[in-house]
Amino acid sequence: MSPFPSLTFGQRLLELPPVFYRHIQPQPLNDPYLVAGNASLCATLGITAAELSQPASLALLSGKQFVPGVSALAALYAGHQFGVYVPQLGDGRALSLGDTVDREGRRWEWQLKGAGLTPFSRMGDGRAVLRSTIREYLCSEAMHGLGIPTTRALAMTGSPDPVYRERPETAAVLTRLAESFIRFGSFEVFYHRGQHDEIRQLADFVIRHHYTHCAQADQPYAALFADIVARTAQLLAHWQAVGFCHGVMNTDNMSILGLTLDYGPFGFMDGFNAAHVCNHSDHAGRYAYNQQPQVGLWNLHCLASAFLPLVSEEQLVEALSGYREQYSQYWLILMRNKLGLLVEQEGDEALIEALLLAMHAHHTDYTVFFRRLADFDMAGENHALRDMFLDRSLFDDWATRYAARLQLETRSAAERKLAMLAANPKYILRNYLAELAIQAAQQGDFSQIASLHDCLSHPFDEQPQYQAYAAEPPAWAQQISVSCSS
Ligand code: AMP
Ligand code: MG
Repeated sequence: MSPFPSLTFGQRLLELPPVFYRHIQPQPLNDPYLVAGNASLCATLGITAAELSQPASLALLSGKQFVPGVSALAALYAGHQFGVYVPQLGDGRALSLGDTVDREGRRWEWQLKGAGLTPFSRMGDGRAVLRSTIREYLCSEAMHGLGIPTTRALAMTGSPDPVYRERPETAAVLTRLAESFIRFGSFEVFYHRGQHDEIRQLADFVIRHHYTHCAQADQPYAALFADIVARTAQLLAHWQAVGFCHGVMNTDNMSILGLTLDYGPFGFMDGFNAAHVCNHSDHAGRYAYNQQPQVGLWNLHCLASAFLPLVSEEQLVEALSGYREQYSQYWLILMRNKLGLLVEQEGDEALIEALLLAMHAHHTDYTVFFRRLADFDMAGENHALRDMFLDRSLFDDWATRYAARLQLETRSAAERKLAMLAANPKYILRNYLAELAIQAAQQGDFSQIASLHDCLSHPFDEQPQYQAYAAEPPAWAQQISVSCSS
């Protein structure tokens, strides 16, 4: 019986042959407790948040007991890490519990992250610490609130069991959900082993369950690849527009569905810096903010190689060659929305670029600036915006151009303001906010996790009770250092 009586678990990955996964047995943590539960995702699934803390659910969500009769599986994949092909990665600390169908008929795969060793753990311990689990939990729900494709977080459990990183910490398990966790690297592994039948089996699986419309195309595999290119381009445009850095854009962290996947040393930018590197282990800045769109394309090239047994080289090259245009077009749509520009004009891109240059020069807070821009007064001095630039004349020059551009708009100023408030979030998961919630949680106080989650679920709404979360970061935020897997 399922620990959630209203849910029936299946395990669709079993449609694939055994070479794709390994069966995993539970490795319980001691004295598990619930750190956070996502009531809104529970409602989507057709369960209640109260059910999460039932003993049977807690046993499942902490990895003590899997769903009876349903295989828990760790998936095989490989990937290019920092440009170098690593032949065998796989779920080293994640496993699939199975999948359930929600109220709208959508199927969700459930994963535990941090539930113990798998055959793919290599040198790792299969565990995750409370700190990194809180970051993934909060950021996946913040991204969802922002309307950016992402894996979701259902629940987080903790345990007093020690996990050793730079210093001893305590263990946690994240329950995360997605339509699928298949990665670029899930294809690459079979290409590099010369197992072309398996590439076809995986592509068939992906089309059958996730890209069903491709089955009708003249060339389903070519259509599938083209769609993955388009979704990746859109995802990157979203990240850039909101000021999000992923931090580890290795191909094993790239979702075949264009979801934000595997939250590690990610960061939302505070002050705008085009070359911002959020991962302190990324010394060369390979995954810097301004490199991300290009890395998306580089990663798609890796995936294209893996598709060579299925799709002609010409078709793959053609699909890849559309990436830049798709990315730019989507980015321009998002940025026009941020500036409140409804009518399309030739010079819009240059206007946006000029703004970003000025913001870069002054490390202007990205989120605060765009939120304030909704109050831009075409005839006024705009002190609140102007004061965000050390060299006021830089802002004044841009503001003159922007005011002239707004003259060409057909919407009323009031309508534009409303639209801009719906395009520019007031609340993002700043590193320091996550850090404060982590510090409190390490002392046993989970209330900040709950309130941040609540706030970030509606990032575009004014929420006076959470006003403090909209502030620019304190000086100590500069000292926060985040690096790879923890
Ligand atoms: P990441 O950089 O977190 O995406 O992880 C890269 C690879 O290392 C994946 O195959 C992970 O499953 C694996 N990995 C990361 N942390 C651990 C850990 N603590 N134990 C086992 N495997 C891990
Ligand atoms: Mg990963």
